[in-house]
Amino acid sequence: MEFKEHGSKSDILYWSKRLYQKEMSPSTSGNVSTRTNNGILITASGVCLNDMDENDIVLIDYNGNLIEGNKKASSEKIMHTEIYTKRDDINAIIHCHCPVITAFCVAGKPITKAILPDFALMYNEIPLIPYYCPSTIELADIVGKYFENNNVVLLQNHGVVLGADTLQNAFYQLESLRAYIQTYFGAEIISSAKSLNKKQIAEIRQLYIKK
Ligand SMILES: [Zn+2]
Repeated sequence: MEFKEHGSKSDILYWSKRLYQKEMSPSTSGNVSTRTNNGILITASGVCLNDMDENDIVLIDYNGNLIEGNKKASSEKIMHTEIYTKRDDINAIIHCHCPVITAFCVAGKPITKAILPDFALMYNEIPLIPYYCPSTIELADIVGKYFENNNVVLLQNHGVVLGADTLQNAFYQLESLRAYIQTYFGAEIISSAKSLNKKQIAEIRQLYIKK
């Protein structure tokens, strides 16, 4: 397969820092990757996304083998390669343990309520994958399967994985998801989070299809 150049180390550094600084990927958790002509650039194992330099990003092939770099690739590398292998249209992946999003994973709930028009436009629901030990082939396999029909999934008692055409879009989509959940929690504290009804959801989807 021949792919266009989609991302670079500087791209990963920039969006990784934004993730950390927005408190979406605390401490040394989380990993970020992007597809390139020569393989997949991915963050190294055990690094803080805010404190990396270019040496903390390595190039791997689609089997997870190291092609270039002096560090060990993220322990979730196979989860990333599974998604890229299944989906030609995904060129960037973020996996993180964003606390407010992970709250849904720990509560064991998929995200189903279209409480905001932007959510209704993007998703029917965000599914929750049952718990599998992090960094295992079993986790990578099930995530790959869910990505056949989803661009974002919740991992029970773990975190979130999101893929997009670019890292910039992956970051924006994750930030929107976090904002959705913060709004949801706020509404639940005040009274309860109310969904748009079917007619309102159909209306907003129709409007954007026409544009
Ligand atoms: Zn993780």
